[in-house]
Order: sequence, then C-alpha cells, then structure tokens
Amino acid sequence: MNDIVLDAPSPLAVASDFARARESILTISHLTVSFDGFKAVDDLSMTIEENELRVVIGPNGAGKTTLLDMICGKTRPTAGSIRFRGEELTRLSEYHIVRRGVGRKFQNPSIYEDLTVSENLEISIPQARGVWGSVFFRKTKAIRERIERVAEEVMLADHLRMKSGKLSHGQKQWLEIGMLLMQDPQLLLLDEPVAGLSPREREQTAILLKKIAAGKSLVVIEHDMDFVRSIANKVTVLHQGRLLSEGTVDEVQADPRVVEVYLGH
Ligand code: ADP
Ligand code: MG
Repeated sequence: MNDIVLDAPSPLAVASDFARARESILTISHLTVSFDGFKAVDDLSMTIEENELRVVIGPNGAGKTTLLDMICGKTRPTAGSIRFRGEELTRLSEYHIVRRGVGRKFQNPSIYEDLTVSENLEISIPQARGVWGSVFFRKTKAIRERIERVAEEVMLADHLRMKSGKLSHGQKQWLEIGMLLMQDPQLLLLDEPVAGLSPREREQTAILLKKIAAGKSLVVIEHDMDFVRSIANKVTVLHQGRLLSEGTVDEVQADPRVVEVYLGH
C-alpha cells in the first residue's frame, strides 16, 4: 500500500476544486460609491456563486439598494470593480448589463396595469422592444409557450387574460419576477420582493425563489428574518455601506456585531 498516493487528492478532485474556484458568477471587489463625500457603499467585497440564492440584510440606509443600483448600472461606483462571469460591469450601460444576463426588480412593481398578464410578459421579451421589434415581431407558437411556461412558474397561469391592475399586490410582485424571467437572466437582483405580502404569499414566494435558484443566481434584499431563514443559504449583512458579517442565518444572528447593530435601531 502506498499511503502517499491514497492521501493525495485525485486528479478529479483537483479538477473540480479548480472548476469551483472559477465558478463565481459575480465578484465585487472594493466597491465604493460616494455621494458628495458620503460613502453609501464603502470598500465592499463579496462573491456570488452560480445557482446561489444570497440574501442581503441590514438596517435602513445600509446601502443595500445602492449596491443593486451599481450592479445593474443605474449608479456608477466611485471605485472598485464588479465582474459578472469575468466581465467588468462598471463600464457597461444599463442596457448592456441587462443583455449580458443581469435582471433587476425594483422595490415597487413596475408593471403595465392596463395590459393583461400575458401582454406584460410578452413585452418583456427583448425582441419585442424597439421600433423594428414592434413592427416585425410576431407572436409565434414558441413565444406563446414561453409566456405560458413563465406564467405557470410565477403562479399566474390562470390569470393570463386578466388586466394586471386587478391582480393582488403579491401577484403583481410575481408578475414582475415573471417579466424578468422572460429575459432569461442568469443573475436576478430583487429588492424586497415580499414587502407587503400576506404570510401565504410569502411562503409561495419562498418556494418560487428557491425554484428559480435551481438554474440561476439571485441576490435578494429582505428584512423579514423568517422569510430570510426560509430561503437563504448564506446571508450578507451590510451596515453603513460596509460588510458587517457574512454566513448562515444562524451564524449572522449569533454575531455580536449584528446583534448590536439591530438592537441599536
Ligand atoms: P438601504 O437600501 O440599505 O436602505 P440605500 O442604499 O437606499 O439604503 O441608501 C444608503 C444611503 O445612501 C442612505 O443614507 C441614502 O440616503 C444614501 N443615498 C442613496 N442614494 C443616494 C443618492 N443618489 N444621493 C445621495 N445619497 C444617496
Ligand atoms: Mg433599500
């Protein structure tokens, strides 16, 4: 027997470690944005893996929304870098960041209330947009099927012909998630997707987000710790623009720095 050979990592294990190390979908390094000298995000570094569902928490004003604004190109950082699958995002326009596969949902639903659920999903297909798109775009069978598949996924299959304004608040949130899914993003950024939802709708949203994370990565900002516990593997805690703590829900809740920040509010 040769112990050295037995103890050495197999070539397969080495290869999979290497693959894992290269797998991060999003790498944020030393990200900073300063508004008139006030650093809303301050030297923040974090990494999101493929198929990860990360939750970002933190007191009001911690910089959570500003972080998403920078990832999606709405706000330009003062310093630092955001790499999406190896490509620097901070130099791209919002439009190009969407086309690369990053989808953002804002705090308030921005659906077209006068259009039906089906129509809202349809106009979210990138080809349906723009002058040429609207002239030449035809609703093919493949597109109808895609609308139906996404509506099914976001629990709105029975409401395709309903005017979106008539949906419940929770259903409007799901429609907006569906509109993001129509763009087939690889990374979804969701800002407080269960704010104002009923307990039942929260549970359903948790199931939905976990399903989405089976094939995509998500960054979800959330306050409700029961909801966070129901979806998160790993939680990042921001405070005054800085990374305060990171780990499992149990780890961050037991972190004295986190306890102090939340008790202090
Ligand atoms: P959170 O989402 O964690 O509650 P935000 O990211 O919205 O916090 O805000 C972080 C801080 O940055 C807040 O103090 C906010 O007032 C400030 N801030 C955000 N955007 C701007 C801006 N465009 N100009 C000036 N200050 C801003
Ligand atoms: Mg916010």
